[in-house]
Amino acid sequence: MFKVKKPCNNCPFLKNSPMFLDEDRLPEIVEHLDNNGLFHCHKTINYKKQIDTETNEMIKESKQNQFCAGAITYLEKQNRPNAPLQVAQRVGWYDPEDYLKNKDKVIDSLEERSIW
Ligand code: SF4
Repeated sequence: MFKVKKPCNNCPFLKNSPMFLDEDRLPEIVEHLDNNGLFHCHKTINYKKQIDTETNEMIKESKQNQFCAGAITYLEKQNRPNAPLQVAQRVGWYDPEDYLKNKDKVIDSLEERSIW
């Protein structure tokens, strides 16, 4: 879950990210994270096996799924990791410092993304 430690080049949490998202999408992702949700790296999800194609909901977790590094960095930068991150840190699966190395590349607030 914590193998991807660096946001990728088109991470939606990057300053100047080239990724286009609907206006509401990033706030929705952050709300989900704030409600202790996980945000998996889309590159690691097996869409055929894990996503219900009718509802678009995750129906099955997999060990291969990785937590999005950009999302983690965004939360850690604001010093508000959600409950899954806090638990993972306590059991030693996860070290915020791995992610904070890239903190300067990641937005400080959602407003930064809404200006382009
Ligand atoms: S979901 Fe994966 S590929 Fe996309 S930004 Fe996050 S870590 Fe990078």
